Amino acid sequence: MKNRLVFATNNKHKLEEISAIVGDKIEILSLNDIDCHDDIPETADTFEGNAMQKARYVKEKYGYDCFADDTGLQVEALNGAPGVYSARYAGEPADSEKNIDKLLSNLSHVDDRKAKFVTCIALIKGDEEYTFYGEIAGHIIRERRGSAGFGYDSVFVPEGYEETFAQMGEEQKNKISHRAKAVKKLSDFLNTI
Ligand code: IMP
Repeated sequence: MKNRLVFATNNKHKLEEISAIVGDKIEILSLNDIDCHDDIPETADTFEGNAMQKARYVKEKYGYDCFADDTGLQVEALNGAPGVYSARYAGEPADSEKNIDKLLSNLSHVDDRKAKFVTCIALIKGDEEYTFYGEIAGHIIRERRGSAGFGYDSVFVPEGYEETFAQMGEEQKNKISHRAKAVKKLSDFLNTI
């Protein structure tokens, strides 16, 4: 029988990405698939803490082996902000355009614009807990460029490239991104067990 794993998300894009990488050996279920419509708490102050909190919630309440992810942008000159608060940097409700405005404003007099995206995936399989990290370094430019992607993509230029994530488009971004790296590590691990 196929191995089944819940991915603690209903984000279609993330579900498609992981299913494509993991292949057909493992069946990935979404939160909708297990009838979980809860607002799962994410109250930790680290990516790992949040990812693990979500995975444990599903394992404890629904009994499924599960993995969950948490991602954010860390800007060196802002001491790692917005970090775990990336989605709601400019307050509630989450608004990417306002988040970018706040980021550019906070960096307006800053020359050191180094930043990185970090993804942590937490996996609970049986009684064991595992984490997988992916990162991509780059810098924040002064004005938006490009229209693809989401979140901070239009102001982030990955190291070794001239284009922002929003200019390079999804296919190229998915080859080098923080999330792709973490997902690949998870997938390699799942394929060995
Ligand atoms: P999540 O943990 O995947 O929901 O990501 C949290 C927040 O980080 C998002 O709401 C975005 O603001 C930002 N973010 C995550 N991944 C990316 C990305 O690939 N590009 C740009 N922004 C991202």
